[in-house]
Amino acid sequence: MLVLESVKQAQKALSQTALSNSLALVPTMGCLHEGHLDLVRMAKKLAKKVVVSIFVNPLQFGPSEDFEKYPRHFEKDLELLKSLDVDFVFHPVASDLYPSGFYTSIDTGALGRRLCGKFRPGHFNGVATVCLKLFNITKAHFAIFGEKDFQQLQVIKQTVRDLNSPLEIVAHPTVREPSGLALSSRNRYLSTEEKVAALCIPNTLKELQAYQIKKSDCSVQELTELALASLNPLKVQYAEITVGEDLSLANPSDLICSLDKPRLFIAAFCGNTRLIDNCALRGISS
Ligand code: AMP
Repeated sequence: MLVLESVKQAQKALSQTALSNSLALVPTMGCLHEGHLDLVRMAKKLAKKVVVSIFVNPLQFGPSEDFEKYPRHFEKDLELLKSLDVDFVFHPVASDLYPSGFYTSIDTGALGRRLCGKFRPGHFNGVATVCLKLFNITKAHFAIFGEKDFQQLQVIKQTVRDLNSPLEIVAHPTVREPSGLALSSRNRYLSTEEKVAALCIPNTLKELQAYQIKKSDCSVQELTELALASLNPLKVQYAEITVGEDLSLANPSDLICSLDKPRLFIAAFCGNTRLIDNCALRGISS
């Protein structure tokens, strides 16, 4: 496994690799868990060579967010990636990706301002910008993203489509603990009690999926109100139902079963830790 510490080193090693092999990229911020590792396993099935990037991207954190305290466990991450027989790890420093004079940024538009974007202004612009840089540096043929961050996945698909990036974006389903809690690097912030309280999020998703299957004329408003009631013990930031690939917000009076690819998104605080999750609902084509 080759650890690439600079943009130059990565460009040199990976452009040669990508010429004669298929190359899959798994972008991460490190502090790897089984969710990340499953993405790596998928990457290995898709392509001959795999590069995992580990970079806590300052551009996607707001001034009052957890950039400084975001967990970093590089040596442990390397061990895990070695055990999966990953070919390359790209681990740049911020001053190399964003040298003085760096200016260009991607505007992800309305999609980037909805849901999480409403509460994290500029977040998705920062995500799209760093991902496009990673795509350009690695010249990967595939990039794997988790559905745990479904809005991020859609933002990246939009960026790649709008800017004609030649690589293919591949989605991986959300990986969960046996309890149902979606794996996340931020779960480390949770105390034992908070971890139990956090189960309210996956439980709400499961219950509402089941409810909607039973009550086929359930409206957006009805399901949203049920979600908010069920999440009551937590400090909810939002619970919203979206339609289609661009995740536009559904009208309260719409019947969910009449919508195209309806999806339920939740963001809530458990103590000081912000958790997100989402699930598909039953729409016209499902
Ligand atoms: P992060 O390190 O949090 O930026 O995540 C890197 C990638 O791993 C993103 O594509 C995430 O969507 C994905 N990911 C994180 N947690 C999970 C999970 N529990 N299941 C599936 N993918 C995940």
